[in-house]
Amino acid sequence: MSELEKRIFRPALWAGVYLFASPVYLVLWTLRLRRLLRGYGIVRQGTISCPHCGFANALNRLATCNRCHAIEYGSLLFCSFCRQVSRSIQCHGCGVTLRIFPGLWR
Ligand SMILES: [Zn+2]
Ligand SMILES: [Zn+2]
Repeated sequence: MSELEKRIFRPALWAGVYLFASPVYLVLWTLRLRRLLRGYGIVRQGTISCPHCGFANALNRLATCNRCHAIEYGSLLFCSFCRQVSRSIQCHGCGVTLRIFPGLWR
């Protein structure tokens, strides 16, 4: 295989790989978008009910930041002192972790 053929063949091969993988990425991004929109819906609502004990957890209340230990009234998902953003909260009723926003792949 000549140098010119390699320069053409390799990018074409990678383009083919991405083309065949694109439906998989489309499905993953759609699922992620759905979970993200569900998270924004919970934030807009202001409460999340625990699926285990049924306690209605308010997202805005007095909370202690896990990173800088600042105590403030406000969102459980954001600390205005150290700008820590959380994707999940702990249920006030039973202590289980409730995921609000998805991680990068889950
Ligand atoms: Zn903090
Ligand atoms: Zn609970």
